[in-house]
Amino acid sequence: MKKRIAFLVLALVLILSWGAWAEEQLGRYDLIFDASQDGGRLTARFLQLTTRSEDKSGDCTILTSPDGRVMVIDAGNPSTFPDVDGALQALGITRIDYLVASHPHVDHIGSFAQLIYNYEIGAVYTSELEYPTSHYRNYMEAIERTKVPHIILAEGDSFMFGQHVRVEVLHPPAGIEYYEGYPLGSTQFINNRSLVLKLTFKDSTFLFTGDVYTAAEREIVGRYGEQLKADVLKVPHHGDSTSSSKAFREAVSPQIAVMMHDAIADLRIYRNYSRAGASTYITSIDGSVLVSTAGDGQYTVITQFDRKTDFLD
Ligand SMILES: [Zn+2]
Repeated sequence: MKKRIAFLVLALVLILSWGAWAEEQLGRYDLIFDASQDGGRLTARFLQLTTRSEDKSGDCTILTSPDGRVMVIDAGNPSTFPDVDGALQALGITRIDYLVASHPHVDHIGSFAQLIYNYEIGAVYTSELEYPTSHYRNYMEAIERTKVPHIILAEGDSFMFGQHVRVEVLHPPAGIEYYEGYPLGSTQFINNRSLVLKLTFKDSTFLFTGDVYTAAEREIVGRYGEQLKADVLKVPHHGDSTSSSKAFREAVSPQIAVMMHDAIADLRIYRNYSRAGASTYITSIDGSVLVSTAGDGQYTVITQFDRKTDFLD
């Protein structure tokens, strides 16, 4: 009898501690991927992606417009598809109205072919930049096979995301000129030609920057100056020191800055934003991050995990 009680107690302890462990792993995942409060709001969900390959996990942001349209900007490396797919399923999304590629590197377009084959897609939006790799060809082939419209964007274009959110294309300018030998040694060339998009919903603004480096930042700051100001910034190039120059940070002067990465690229960049007063998040630490607004310049932020450390500051 004593043995039996001891066994039951042990079983109970195991169940409870497994429950606590599972909860710790998931954090506020269910809250972040609950779409029930999304109506009338512009909501961006910056995903924590887990790489299951050699490539870095990359970027993926799922946006929902106040009238229920869905935009996905970038979609991680191919091995992160379960994370992207799981988030979309949790949100009850079966149709992506706007599937946007900031630029054709694998940590941004890796899951595109799988998304195009598995979801109803309104249109794919890219810059004109072409990049002959197998991942790029796969998703171009998926576009062709499924006959999804492919819309090419360039600086000066704008379009509506649903009825209430305006999207302006700030970069790159039309007419990309390839150098001889492209795409050999093209990492910077491609990153500097990322799509930069500004989303405006009434008094609220979001800036998406792909992987632009300081060279492209300089051009954009030169062209747009104060118009770059945005409340919420997707920090360029995963928070790396290739990017986020002082002039760029000052022009944007975000309230909220989000870095998507499976590591910390450069702590100085984090601190530059944080010390300038931005609430700054890194998906490798904070998990997925939800930022939502009714268009009044006020934001609700939910992170998946609580910070257990203050070493970042
Ligand atoms: Zn990247």
